[in-house]
Amino acid sequence: MLLQINFPIKVLDNIIFVKIFKRMQERILIIGSSGQIGTELVIELRKIYGNENVIASDIRQSYDEVMNSGPFEILDIMDEKLLRNIVAKYKVTQVYLLAALLSATAEQNIELGWELNMRSHSHVLDLAKDGLVKKIFWPSSIAVFGSTTPMENTPQYTVMEPSTVYGITKQAGERWNEYYFNKFGVDVRSIRYPGLIGWKAAPGGGTTDYAVDIFHKAITDGKYECFLAENTGLPMMYMPDAIRATIELMEAPAEQVKIRSSYNLAGVSFTPKILSEEISKHIPNFKMRYQPDFRQEIASSWPSSINDTHAQNDWGWKLKYNLEKMTSDMMRNLTEKYKTIA
Ligand code: NAD
Repeated sequence: MLLQINFPIKVLDNIIFVKIFKRMQERILIIGSSGQIGTELVIELRKIYGNENVIASDIRQSYDEVMNSGPFEILDIMDEKLLRNIVAKYKVTQVYLLAALLSATAEQNIELGWELNMRSHSHVLDLAKDGLVKKIFWPSSIAVFGSTTPMENTPQYTVMEPSTVYGITKQAGERWNEYYFNKFGVDVRSIRYPGLIGWKAAPGGGTTDYAVDIFHKAITDGKYECFLAENTGLPMMYMPDAIRATIELMEAPAEQVKIRSSYNLAGVSFTPKILSEEISKHIPNFKMRYQPDFRQEIASSWPSSINDTHAQNDWGWKLKYNLEKMTSDMMRNLTEKYKTIA
């Protein structure tokens, strides 16, 4: 009887021990770590893998929390030689590539958008192809879809005709991921992030940035002028969910990662009007005006909701934050943040 009770506990202990042991072997390089996702990902990965084992890097310095908690390197990802030197210096085993020009910014500088997004990706894929690192994370985006894609509950496999330079780089990137996996056995993993919402770092020039700006302006000014029309439905996700999804995918056993191009991830879909109504529950006099600009055309070509059953079935993905929970958490954290600044 005693054995029967102890056996599963022992197995569980071993699994946890194996997981901790495996994590201790990893050295992780984050490229583009000073941006919206990188800032939060570095902090979370350092909690899991240890401060010294997570190397942040970017062309610019980051927030104090990142700069003071572990190694940081200035790295322009276009410089392949420097990238390889840093990988050798730290004996890097995994790379998360976050450096990119985002949708709105890339539309205003299409050459740099193409050059940076494609070159950075091939530099990192080649690291794995040459056996210098074991695993890669490279994010895709809902921008891979276009106006010919079914807009509601967009399936994993569907028509993909992106109309932005950013979307074209993400779609090409997905093809390269699959190619490198099939031809060279590169263990590359990817998520098609929806628009991401977080309070720790500023967004970097995407079409969904309104959904972050609105919280700041609601707290500081009580009003917001939105650059998208009120009924523009888009899939979004709260940053803690996005970071957890990223780490869960990277830690999933390789055989469970059945899609090597990039996984759909649904998040929570809403329009600017619905978000403003949710914020009004916290700031009753909040006023919203709509002044759509060039970003409207981009947003109109993207799906309003996503089907992510493949991520759920393959590696057990489960969303935690709905609109209500996310809004409350954003309001609480940002209000605190502004109090400490004042
Ligand atoms: P961001 O713009 O906030 O951060 C990108 C970082 O890359 C910046 O810190 C920038 O300084 C750095 N960078 C730029 N050029 C570089 C270079 N030559 N070498 C090294 N670093 C360089 O972007 P983000 O929101 O953190 O997005 C990260 C990744 O996730 C991108 O690939 C983006 O396409 C993807 N993504 C983001 C979202 C979102 O809502 N944030 C949605 C979908 C996909």
